[in-house]
Amino acid sequence: DLLVVGSANADLVIGVERRPAPGETVLGSDLAVHPGGKGANQAVAAARLGARTALLARVGDDAHGRLLLESQRAAGVDTGGVQVGGAPTGVALITVDPSGDNSIVVSPGANARLTPGDIRAADRLLAGARVVSAQLEIPLETVAEVVRTRSAGSRFVLNPSPPAPLPADVLAACDPLVVNEHEARFTLGDAAGPGPEDWARELLALGPRSVVVTLGAQGALVADGRTGTVVLVPSPRVDAVDTTGAGDAFTAALAWRLSLGEDLATAAAFAVRVGAAAVTREGAQASFPTAEEVSAL
Ligand code: ADP
Repeated sequence: DLLVVGSANADLVIGVERRPAPGETVLGSDLAVHPGGKGANQAVAAARLGARTALLARVGDDAHGRLLLESQRAAGVDTGGVQVGGAPTGVALITVDPSGDNSIVVSPGANARLTPGDIRAADRLLAGARVVSAQLEIPLETVAEVVRTRSAGSRFVLNPSPPAPLPADVLAACDPLVVNEHEARFTLGDAAGPGPEDWARELLALGPRSVVVTLGAQGALVADGRTGTVVLVPSPRVDAVDTTGAGDAFTAALAWRLSLGEDLATAAAFAVRVGAAAVTREGAQASFPTAEEVSAL
């Protein structure tokens, strides 16, 4: 039902007392290696909720690639579309200081080698998907090819993260464009109005069929181009422990419920609960809830 096209990274995390200055060496904690990347995260989040989910991505023929494939399979994701080889698996080198601030270096690796040709070669996977969801940790030309190759009856969901200028045909296909506050401001640039409601309307004016602006603990704004309405979908109040992966959990849940035929506001009302559940636990993939856990919230 749901096809996620996107990145898969190994997150290599080391705790440090402080960051090294240029030329300096500091000692850190034991290394923790976690499966990550927005594409891999969203596929796992959807599958854990019970969605029939496939991932179209590229990993290296290496230990990190095997870790990623294993975590996808353990969550129940169809990994038949995961290409292997061509470059090392993408890596995020993350140092975390005692205040919890992250410094991150990303090596896109195999993610940068997921090409438009890979998309065309996966035409059967694309044809079978009700909803196709993408992010921007793979080449933009590859995302543009997804828009062209997917079946006419499918729905395209884009989370433009990390934000980049979007071609008009990609923007026009989004239903919805899902942005957090940072991505909304970037996409609008100097044109951004004072508040999220302004952003939602201004983003709609750029051409997508619908827009969702996520607002952390406040929930999400849903703007539908068909009706011109903007509604706030509030998030349940929770004790936030770690917001890593909240946006991925939200987007995955939204895309899945849209694939079941729910309307956008109804799907968003489910997705804010999934995002809220994800912030109650540490980590990204480790924090994603099952459907039972979302009901219990
Ligand atoms: P991102 O992780 O991309 O920055 P947000 O911070 O907007 O995105 O979070 C996405 C969704 O996760 C929100 O719409 C909300 O449903 C949920 N969420 C995030 N932070 C909290 C929080 N502190 N309390 C409750 N829900 C949250």
